[in-house]
Amino acid sequence: MVRLRRYSVAIGSVALVLCLKLSARQFLGEGVPFLLFFGAILLSASYAGRGPAFLATILSAAVANYFFVVHVYGPSLVTPGAIQTTVFVLEGLVIAELIVRWRKSEAESHLQTELLRTTLLSIGDAVVATDAEGRVTLMNPVAEGLTGYGQEEAEGKPLDDVFRIMDETSRDVLANPIRAVLATGEPAGLANHTVLLSRDGTEIPIDDSGAPIRGPKGVLEGAVLVFRDITERRKAARELVESSRRLASVLENIGDGFAILDKEWRYVFLNEQAAKIRGRPRHEFPGTEYWQGIQDAPSLTSYREFHRALEESVSVHFEEHSTGDGTWYAVDAYPSPEGLSVFIRDVTATRRAAEELRVSNERFRRLYEANLIGIMFWTVKSGVLDGNDEYFRLTGISRKEFHERGGIRFQELTPPEFRERENQVVQSMLATGTSGLYEKEYAHRDGARIPVMMGLALLDQARQEGVAFAMDITDRKLAERRFRQLADHAPVLIWIAGTDSLLHFFNKPWLEFTGRAMDQEIGSGWQAGVHPEDLNRIMALYLVSFEARQGFRVEYRLRRHDGAWRWTLVDGRPIYAISGEFEGFIGSCVDITDRRNAEEQLERANSALQRSNEDLRQFAYAASHDLQEPLRTVSLYSQLLAKRYKGQLDADADQFIDYTTSSATRMHELVRDLLAFAQAAEGPAAAEGLVSSGDVLERTANGMQLDAAGATVTHGELPAVAVHVQHLGQLFQNLIGNAVKYRGIEAPVIHVSARRDAGSWVFSVKDNGIGIDPQHHARIFGIFKRLHRQEYAGTGIGLAICSRIVERYGGRIWVESEIGKGANFQFTLPAA
Ligand code: ADP
Repeated sequence: MVRLRRYSVAIGSVALVLCLKLSARQFLGEGVPFLLFFGAILLSASYAGRGPAFLATILSAAVANYFFVVHVYGPSLVTPGAIQTTVFVLEGLVIAELIVRWRKSEAESHLQTELLRTTLLSIGDAVVATDAEGRVTLMNPVAEGLTGYGQEEAEGKPLDDVFRIMDETSRDVLANPIRAVLATGEPAGLANHTVLLSRDGTEIPIDDSGAPIRGPKGVLEGAVLVFRDITERRKAARELVESSRRLASVLENIGDGFAILDKEWRYVFLNEQAAKIRGRPRHEFPGTEYWQGIQDAPSLTSYREFHRALEESVSVHFEEHSTGDGTWYAVDAYPSPEGLSVFIRDVTATRRAAEELRVSNERFRRLYEANLIGIMFWTVKSGVLDGNDEYFRLTGISRKEFHERGGIRFQELTPPEFRERENQVVQSMLATGTSGLYEKEYAHRDGARIPVMMGLALLDQARQEGVAFAMDITDRKLAERRFRQLADHAPVLIWIAGTDSLLHFFNKPWLEFTGRAMDQEIGSGWQAGVHPEDLNRIMALYLVSFEARQGFRVEYRLRRHDGAWRWTLVDGRPIYAISGEFEGFIGSCVDITDRRNAEEQLERANSALQRSNEDLRQFAYAASHDLQEPLRTVSLYSQLLAKRYKGQLDADADQFIDYTTSSATRMHELVRDLLAFAQAAEGPAAAEGLVSSGDVLERTANGMQLDAAGATVTHGELPAVAVHVQHLGQLFQNLIGNAVKYRGIEAPVIHVSARRDAGSWVFSVKDNGIGIDPQHHARIFGIFKRLHRQEYAGTGIGLAICSRIVERYGGRIWVESEIGKGANFQFTLPAA
């Protein structure tokens, strides 16, 4: 259609020219037949294009030829008309072509101008164009907006008037880059941190560039300045800086080690913590390889996992154990196109805590399942939630029944008399978290009572839920009952104190003795029955001993039920559990009043005895000193009398003198022996050391002129004893003397020996003399006791002295003998 319309323009315009030419033939004449037809060609070329123009040319040639040329030149093939027509066609074609081209280039140029205009209008950047003198020729709307000047106002003004810029920090006014562009003909950019001062004084950070505009022959015709508001970009850049700073600070402070590795495992970045984990200063890392310095790296989990992360492009998480110090690390690695980001966290404590938790859970589970004690979980609201087998055993409720009933109320199994107490315990447990231990009984299903030791602990305050332990104490209660029975039937008064030193138990004999009730006695109540003069003394001793966990014995007066003060001996001892734990003290008391009385009497008798001994000693001294002097005088004068007057007086007188002399001698011996007897208990209290009894025996025997009597003394091995030499000598002298004196028909043979018996030496002095009737064995050791008054001289003091000496050393003396069979005197002395 369009084409048709275009071609009809050609046909129409030719037709029009033809009509014009025909109708104006009389004015125009026949000459120049083609001229007007150029109009048709021009019209067609201008408005319908090349094709129609060519058509108009051909048509015009044909029509003009037909109507006008033939009339002028006549029909001929080669006529001036033919030549003219050919020239016309050629000219027409050239004109048509030229016009078509011109139209086209005009249209294109219009399009380009339009494009540039639209571009400038719609472009986001500000654009200002200047002429070669730097005067504004064009401004797009963005430039108008930023500078505050309109295109009309600005046009023709120097660029510096509308485009004022300065350095953001130094505030120095800067030259616009167009100057440089115009001066050098080269493009130029702005310095950084440039701000545009707009017309209203607003400062706008900009970024710009300028470029020269050159004419067709390269002549510099002006410059164009392009700039843009970079406020947003600046802000974004600042935010970027800020956010990367924040990110860096986060990475430094996360507490985790963080590292970025490139694809060749080289450190690109690592934070302080990561350097610390790797144990080297941070600056040494960047650029070095991650696996460097790690022994046997390929065997590590991290090696395997990191490779997997990179190769499969997956993030990995694993935990790894450092062989060096045993630290556990949790590692997360995230792959990226550049490499790997690695987070390393020390999880040793967490793992340890988890392990501890596991162990403690396991322990509790074992305890729970061991069923040594009943364990159950409860809430205040719903009662018992669950329990172990032992708990169900204690209650007598089967687990099945428990589940069917959907639980048990807490106090359902508590006998009425324990309920109030238990309520109090529960209240205090809710307040403090634990109940402490308390005893109660379970009303077992089978009707029995099961004594238990209970403890409650709150696990969750908010939900009021917790755990309870119940220990079967039937055996303990039984043992307690047995102990009580035993204690109540013991013949002594018994009390028991706890670890707080207060007395909490008294047996029946005690209560009967004091006539008081247990309630009155427990704690410190018993002190009311102690004699006021004794109380402080025994309390001080009790508390000191209690602290030291040391047994004690003390006598004090305790009031009997009838009000009488009775001396009591208490023996207190610490008591310990099988585990070795101190549990308190136990004391047993006996009434020692009678014994004390007896002792007092004994003491009185003793002191009387001591007094009489003292009298005797004094008598002995009196005898030695006071009696010996007159005795010597009597003896001396009776001897003098005998010497001078013997045979000069009558026979009676001689005999009287004899009596006197011998009595004086005898008297002298008696006094001497008595003195020896008195002194036997005297002398130094303890011996100075050991003496060899063999030596003492030999010395004594040598001094006794035994040879004259035809006697022999032999001895076995004799020990060293802690006895005074003179005492031991006196013993041997008296016993050997008697053996010689009471000899039989044969020559006296005496053997001395000693044997060990427990802590003593038993000495034996054995002879072959006349022997002693067993009925007299005890008597002969008494003072002045003699069996042979007439036949043998003697004072009857010798054996009494022996007895005294031996007793002084804690020993005893006795004789084994029969008449005619010799005598064996034996005595003991302490072994050293
Ligand atoms: P005395 O020898 O001076 O009479 P003693 O006290 O030494 O007094 O002895 C008491 C008595 O024991 C003696 O009188 C004697 O009868 C008897 N007696 C002591 N030693 C022997 C002995 N070895 N053999 C027999 N009788 C003895």
